[in-house]
Amino acid sequence: MNLPTLVSPGDLYMDANAQRLDKKRLVNKVAVITGGARGIGAATAKLFAENGAHVVVADILDELGKSLADSIGGQYIHCDVANEADVESAVQLALVWKGKLDIMFNNAGISGPGGSITNLKMEEMSALLSINVNGVVHGIKHASRAMIGKGGGSIVCTSSSAAIMGGLASHAYTLSKEAILGVARSSACELGVHGIRVNCVSPHGVPTEMLVSAYRKFLGKVDLRPEEVGQIVGENGSLLRGRSASVDDVAQAVLFLASNESGFVTAHNLVVDGGYTSASNQMS
Ligand code: NAD
Repeated sequence: MNLPTLVSPGDLYMDANAQRLDKKRLVNKVAVITGGARGIGAATAKLFAENGAHVVVADILDELGKSLADSIGGQYIHCDVANEADVESAVQLALVWKGKLDIMFNNAGISGPGGSITNLKMEEMSALLSINVNGVVHGIKHASRAMIGKGGGSIVCTSSSAAIMGGLASHAYTLSKEAILGVARSSACELGVHGIRVNCVSPHGVPTEMLVSAYRKFLGKVDLRPEEVGQIVGENGSLLRGRSASVDDVAQAVLFLASNESGFVTAHNLVVDGGYTSASNQMS
């Protein structure tokens, strides 16, 4: 009897990487990515460009964002997503540059403030919500205005495993990521008739600048390295042989939601967490 060959998640990942060279999935699509200068947004910008998309990188980190945009033949715009006019300008740039917008990736976000709910500072919470929630709402609003009557499009919003499970990291952050799921679903209900799909991606434990600095603060270790954070998350928060998610794992999920291959998928939350939020390692 022939037994199936066992493959590790690492092998599967290599296969996904090999496939990405075979077939371009976003040829001539025009995309705006907020928070596109680094981390998950930057990995997605590169993957979109490799797949034939024209990408507008929108961020507040001008030097990083511009150099990334130059390297992928894209455009950069300074855009603080908390400011509605900035988000509108990012969408306008896509329209002026290429005459249309097909994909909006509302990805910009910040972590914290952490700490007990008994000491929660409402002004700090409002500041976080103005970026994480208002920023996404601004993106959905202006992208859908550009897409209605123009053949539709795909809007993807970055939520988080924090929207699914409670956690000690930050009450404000958890609230913001649940709110994103809600507004994405309600927008999907309204916009489906215009051929606009609205979905979320929910990563967990990707050792980016955001997560590493949150861990440094939480554990009180200023010199904690990204690899160490990846190891901690991989050991405690992944069913896939102890590895943590990479920015490319998340970018591949966003590519799927952005492309026509997910043409009948809307109001969905695609969780990229190595199974963390669906299973428990405990025997109880
Ligand atoms: P990151 O810090 O590397 O990237 C965040 C990007 O957003 C940066 O380029 C930053 O400059 C930009 N940004 C921050 N505030 C902004 C603003 N006001 N306007 C425009 N851009 C702004 O972190 P990341 O992990 O790549 O985060 C990307 C998204 O993924 C965030 O929404 C985050 O909440 C979410 N997320 C991350 C993880 C993780 O484990 N890293 C898990 C779940 C969700």
